[in-house]
Amino acid sequence: MIDLNDLKRWSYELRFDNSGTLTKRAISKIKKFIAIQSFKQLGKNILYPDTIGIELTNRCNLRCIECARNYWDAQKNKFGDMSFDFFVDKVEPILHKGMNVQINGYGESLLNKDIFKILDRCNKKGCFVQLYTNGSLFTPENIKKLMRVDQIVFSIDGIESCKKIRGVSSEKIFDNIRQINKIKAKKNLLSPTIAINFCAMRDNIKELPGLVKIASTLKIDYFSVRHLNIYSKNLISQSLQHKDNLRLAERYFKKAQDIAKRNKLILSIPPLENKFLSCTNPFNVVWIKWNGDVIPCCLGIVHEKNTISVGNLNKSSFDEIWNNNMINHIRRSLLDNKNFHPYCETCPERYCCLEFNIRHLK
Ligand code: SF4
Ligand code: SF4
Repeated sequence: MIDLNDLKRWSYELRFDNSGTLTKRAISKIKKFIAIQSFKQLGKNILYPDTIGIELTNRCNLRCIECARNYWDAQKNKFGDMSFDFFVDKVEPILHKGMNVQINGYGESLLNKDIFKILDRCNKKGCFVQLYTNGSLFTPENIKKLMRVDQIVFSIDGIESCKKIRGVSSEKIFDNIRQINKIKAKKNLLSPTIAINFCAMRDNIKELPGLVKIASTLKIDYFSVRHLNIYSKNLISQSLQHKDNLRLAERYFKKAQDIAKRNKLILSIPPLENKFLSCTNPFNVVWIKWNGDVIPCCLGIVHEKNTISVGNLNKSSFDEIWNNNMINHIRRSLLDNKNFHPYCETCPERYCCLEFNIRHLK
């Protein structure tokens, strides 16, 4: 008979003992398998999450056209920062060795005055720390302090069009990356590794091949292209899955892939054809908002123009929330592929299809 607590510990030890990226991914899959099996057999998820997103703030200095913040209900989404005390009391105890910590959310994390103290605490716990950033607030001082994270993921939506779409010049972000590379070379460091997130749309797709070329000269480790999330009718014509944009998207995806291949850059391109995906995020991923709300993932704001919380760490413990009725309903519906919570109803992570994803707008 397997002791479930041993199993829980074993999964974290495994994660910590292996440092190769592929091996880590494989272990993560095994853990997700165990989480799903335990849920099926026992009606509860016996493992803690593998990845935790932490929203240090939902304030932002930019106003990108694709951002959910332009479309949510301002009454339901008050602005604020996670306090250091809250982090220490409520979030830090959830962290484990080898856990992926993603510092991200609907805001720019560098606006939180305690960010470096919080990063330190995550490091001390032995987590793999990823910082998602718009890259506009980097200074020589904070670049030095950010050398402690494992990966920095920059959002860049084009070369020329980055300024128009995000309000920040791509050249400024490239400069930041050069600075990081310089320090890494000088100190002989392997991290932080650098990744780029590109939100593809009609207005910037022609710049993708050029950006991939620049990324290869900047020693980027991973380049991820994603579709636009459609929060409002005025974004529909920008989607690359829109019938008027499909040929354009095919052409520029192909060019970008050829350049990435020649330069040995890992490039991830989303499907253009309609594709069923199966979301199992709530089994191993969790997201904590600045105000303590616990969310199974950072998508799903399209319903009621809000993120939907499955609990709040100011009112309940993480253990209570992690297997409560609401999160288990979401898990069950994803496994059964029916009776979806409105949160997941039209989510592109379940079905990558423009018509499906925009049903809520009709
Ligand atoms: S940087 Fe991120 S959070 Fe800020 S407006 Fe842009 S997409 Fe939104
Ligand atoms: S289906 Fe979408 S909204 Fe639901 S848990 Fe998965 S990613 Fe989140």
